[in-house]
Amino acid sequence: MRSVRFVTYGCKANQYDTQVLREALVRRGLEEQDREAELVVVNTCTVTAEAGRKARQLIRRIGRETPGTRIAVTGCLAESEPEVLRELPGVDWVLGNGEAKRPVNFLRELGHDIDPEELGIPAGVTEFAGHTRAFLKIQDGCDMACAFCIIPKVRGRSVSRSAEELEAEVARLVRAGHVEIVLCGIHIGHWGLDRGSRLAELVRRLAVLRVEDDEGRSLPFRVRLSSIEATEVDDDLLAVLADRPDRVAPHLHMPMQSGSDAVLARMNRWYDRATYLAACDRIRRRLDRPAFTADVLVGFPGEGEQEFAETLAAVGEAGFARLHVFPFSPRPGTEAESMHDRPDPMAVRERRAALSEAADAVAAAYGESLVGARDTVVLEGFVGLSGRYQRVRVAPEELEGLPRAVEVVLARSEEGPGFVGLDPRPVA
Ligand code: SF4
Repeated sequence: MRSVRFVTYGCKANQYDTQVLREALVRRGLEEQDREAELVVVNTCTVTAEAGRKARQLIRRIGRETPGTRIAVTGCLAESEPEVLRELPGVDWVLGNGEAKRPVNFLRELGHDIDPEELGIPAGVTEFAGHTRAFLKIQDGCDMACAFCIIPKVRGRSVSRSAEELEAEVARLVRAGHVEIVLCGIHIGHWGLDRGSRLAELVRRLAVLRVEDDEGRSLPFRVRLSSIEATEVDDDLLAVLADRPDRVAPHLHMPMQSGSDAVLARMNRWYDRATYLAACDRIRRRLDRPAFTADVLVGFPGEGEQEFAETLAAVGEAGFARLHVFPFSPRPGTEAESMHDRPDPMAVRERRAALSEAADAVAAAYGESLVGARDTVVLEGFVGLSGRYQRVRVAPEELEGLPRAVEVVLARSEEGPGFVGLDPRPVA
């Protein structure tokens, strides 16, 4: 096989896993193609029924339209339903997370008889070509047991990478031109617990890490936490965020899932509404206008009008900068699959629309509070994400000669949602 195409579904951790495989296969001499290739690697997701359906549909299409193509399926769906995938036309390999996590194993499964030394790749990745942001997977797996989630079954218990390995990888990515490093994983708040350490320690190390170019000049970069449970933002972590807002984006994605204590308990979440909202308050007192984003599930078994009203109110109190609203869909193999009292689908649709509308209003109010604030923006072209997770556009003529990370003053955009970044300057 001389050419390979990658298709990735799902989360940032999956994007990262694909990049690990991409680098290994390209080092073995395979050429990456956007369209037809002799080998297609499909890295799947199983977090929702829809994610699984899309992956199976794509695999069937490849098998139908290009019958000679060989297909290797990996990722969480390969772990949760290998038999179904093996039956699909064109599928030669179904490699669960165990085989695919290490590129050496993956290559061996594909018939490359190599030893790890020969492969010569450092642990992790070296770049995310074409992007200013890079993902860095700091741990994998999860020790919790949320009733709706299949992930612990397909990714296993939490395993953290060493701080030294991660520092080396950050330095490599920054030297490759990435100016934002997104710390991702499955449950990053548990980073370090298996190593006698805590996430705050890793983030502090990265916040003071000096990365130099070939001439010894310090290269600017920042890190962002991809998703962390509200109960895991401890005082040490908050102290790093407060000390180094230039290095650690003041943005926390903290899944809320529901604002009803009864529903949270049924979900096997380990906090109640008051604990979640108290965490938001505590963080807000420590940081300057932090951005909170979150996920909420609507239509979980047992969610009636009262429980939904509590969620709606909690969203207003939390003051989210953005909210992702998902309708509950039962995943086979989860505890929630067999739960009764599922709300009527029509009611779920209405709740989803009502919550999204309320969340938009809350996000607009948060955005208003940022007008006139200075924030750093990591640009891809002339548009980028600010530290507080706002989309910011900077006029091309103002960017001449400036690096891809700039500090700007946020002003309302006349052209629609998002901000215009005024007075761009290099990040100090
Ligand atoms: S914390 Fe809950 S939702 Fe998140 S990966 Fe673990 S089990 Fe799934």
